[in-house]
Amino acid sequence: MKIQQEILFYSTNKKAPETNIREVILKGQAPDKGLYMPKIIPTLSNEELESIRKMNYSEIAQLILGKFLLNYVSKDVLKRLCDDAYNYEVPIENIEKNKFIMRLDRGPTASFKDFAARFMARLMNYFLEEEDRNLLILTATSGDTGGAVADAFYNQKHVDVVVLYPKNEISDRQRKQMTTLGNNVTAIGINGKFDDCQRLVKQAFADRDLSHLNLSSANSINFARLLPQSVYYFYLHSRITRNIDERIIISVPSGNFGNLMGGIFAYKMGLPVLKFIAAVNENDEFPKFLKTAVYQKIEPSRNCLSNAMNVGHPSNLARLIDLYGGHLDENGNLLKKPNMDLLKKDIFSVSITDEKTKQSIKEVYDKYRIILEPHGAVGWAGLNWYLNDQFDLDIKNRTLSASTSNFSFNKEDIISASLETADPAKFPEVIREIIKVEPVMSKRLNEILKKEEYIINLNASYKEFKIFLLNRKKI
Ligand SMILES: *Cc1c(COP(=O)(O)O)cnc(C)c1O
Repeated sequence: MKIQQEILFYSTNKKAPETNIREVILKGQAPDKGLYMPKIIPTLSNEELESIRKMNYSEIAQLILGKFLLNYVSKDVLKRLCDDAYNYEVPIENIEKNKFIMRLDRGPTASFKDFAARFMARLMNYFLEEEDRNLLILTATSGDTGGAVADAFYNQKHVDVVVLYPKNEISDRQRKQMTTLGNNVTAIGINGKFDDCQRLVKQAFADRDLSHLNLSSANSINFARLLPQSVYYFYLHSRITRNIDERIIISVPSGNFGNLMGGIFAYKMGLPVLKFIAAVNENDEFPKFLKTAVYQKIEPSRNCLSNAMNVGHPSNLARLIDLYGGHLDENGNLLKKPNMDLLKKDIFSVSITDEKTKQSIKEVYDKYRIILEPHGAVGWAGLNWYLNDQFDLDIKNRTLSASTSNFSFNKEDIISASLETADPAKFPEVIREIIKVEPVMSKRLNEILKKEEYIINLNASYKEFKIFLLNRKKI
């Protein structure tokens, strides 16, 4: 029974058939290598925006995700999935008058990726249970994503997970987040580099001998890794504004632009936002693109302190450019320019050097005794950069999202926020060096360090990996 308008999805490459959200989520990437996008973005009424102010996080998630999902998931099931996925705090700290930080680092793996991964895992498992089908998720990780995905799918009955990580290139903590789970999660340390892990996963997907294993990926291009990231923007707005129309500035530390896209979707759903700041590290392809309208990916990507943002060609850029009327293919070729004026009205982007990142961590600690980690510090520095250097210019040129013509802006009154995407305790060396303080590790992270590990190592050989997959048993 259809209880809401059906939303079909198309591929950004426009060469794949349109399909519904259930298929989009189970498939991940479109067959033409494009990314799935909804043809319609549902909007919230003023009554709904008002009601959010009294809702808890899970209730907000049910409202927002329900806009896309209620033809496929009942309200009761959606409530169960959201209550189960969002059982942790989302603290918002008031740093200065009208300036906030939202901490997205209180999930089980202490990264904002928990928000999307946990919901996606539960939703996928529910769809598979309905079909009485199982999937094997293969994923390669250079560090933290593998941990978030493994933890999210842990104990979900219809999904097994195999994570490949470069054995000598991740930290003990990162490894332990994957190797101490067991049950349906298998972590394999590859004698090689991250690229070797990725190559092995790609080869397995292309191998017909493995088709009976129902391989799937849970990587960041799945629409289910995006949509749940819209929810916390609504939550943030409802908690820091004085009324529902108040437009705010939000700074997002960005790598693959999944987090930012979550915000852009929230904005298109009706969230009052004045400007998004896409704060990037020294991988500055996006701020350059906004300036010049020429897109040039950075290869290989530059190594910075905020290592989860070392991305020289953000995968979700294809979605952003599509939403603004352009076309970027999977190799980073800009086949059609988006509307640059509109894009710049909504988004400002700035590259923050490592030097500036460190300085930002030090300043925030010295001034407020608040500890930021490198990703959050890029976001905070980006927000200040915008407010100090660009905001007045935007006002003068009226280049802010939404009409600014009959609106007088007093900079001090504008509410702004920056997102903190990881727990500082995940970066003890950096924090110690800059502010000489030992960040306190959450109980959960601490427990993981003491747990028994299930260690499996393989050479970077496809033959070995294939034999392993064919003979794999649960731990
Ligand atoms: C993945 C990640 C980011 C970047 O998010 P994108 O959605 O890829 O832009 C930022 N900070 C942390 C801690 C991350 O793990």
